[in-house]
Amino acid sequence: MLSVVIPSFNEEPNIQNTANVISGILDGNSIDFELIFADDGSRDGTWKEIMLAHEKDPRVLGLRFSRNFGKESAIWAGLEAAKGDCAVVMDCDLQHPPKVIPEMYKLWQNGAEVVEGKKSSRGKESGIYKAFSKLFYKLIASASGIDMANTSDFKLLDRKVIDAILSMQERTTFFRALSGWVGFRSETITYDVEERAFGERKWTPKMLIKYAIKNLMAFTSIPLYISGFLGGIISIASVVLFILRWCGVGLGSFGGSQILLLLTGGLILICLSIIGRYLAQIYEEIKHRPKYIISDSIKSQGGQND
Ligand code: UDP
Ligand code: MG
Repeated sequence: MLSVVIPSFNEEPNIQNTANVISGILDGNSIDFELIFADDGSRDGTWKEIMLAHEKDPRVLGLRFSRNFGKESAIWAGLEAAKGDCAVVMDCDLQHPPKVIPEMYKLWQNGAEVVEGKKSSRGKESGIYKAFSKLFYKLIASASGIDMANTSDFKLLDRKVIDAILSMQERTTFFRALSGWVGFRSETITYDVEERAFGERKWTPKMLIKYAIKNLMAFTSIPLYISGFLGGIISIASVVLFILRWCGVGLGSFGGSQILLLLTGGLILICLSIIGRYLAQIYEEIKHRPKYIISDSIKSQGGQND
């Protein structure tokens, strides 16, 4: 059986359509499946729509978070609930085209353990957003050695891979990178990003920046080395300045000591903030809080429990 995990946040207008389109395609290809909507604390009628979809088709299942825990947690919860021999993770707005799922499934049947969905085009995105995501993936790639340019959360994973990912203890999970990090035999399919079916994009720029910083830090300690590197440059610069002065080279109105003092102060603050951010993240990790809290769920037996 194939589990389809769909993180959903305020997706009321999408649920029925998404459930219908996906089940139509999978039925048409005789693929046995379950659809798991992970309602990430939506404030609109998303949960009601999921319950309705379940009434129409018992293969539609759902989890409801007690509040918004973020897409990563929704994916994680969906994978934990998945009973399939493999699972596809995809967005609720059909920007990840469901028509390629049968193709991914076929690759899995032929032995692939991970089938990566790679964007052939990024769809309609602003220039700033494109530049920002390019920089982000470049940094992640240089830090972790995993090339993630144009990757997305649209993937099919074999049961072995799902179990390997779920065995990870860390709190801050970055699904896109973890599914590459665990290894396994992987194939790629390319897809064109579709237009969002209904509703608005759920990410605000602030959410995206926080998401990028958090995941970069979860994957790399390079910022800690940067502080050392900056410290090195400052030290060398001050030695050079000292030598220049000693040799009697006039520094004009440079006011060397004041400027150096200011610069050093600023850089110390930057370094402190980097260390502070790591400390904050370590603190988050050692709290060992659950990644999410479920308030309702619709399970495969048709039972609904709180
Ligand atoms: N999403 C979520 N929790 C959030 C934000 C988004 O589960 O806090 C889901 C959303 O419902 C959608 C997917 O993540 O299924 C991608 O969100 P969106 O379409 O807004 O982002 P984009 O396609 O622009 O990356
Ligand atoms: Mg989208």
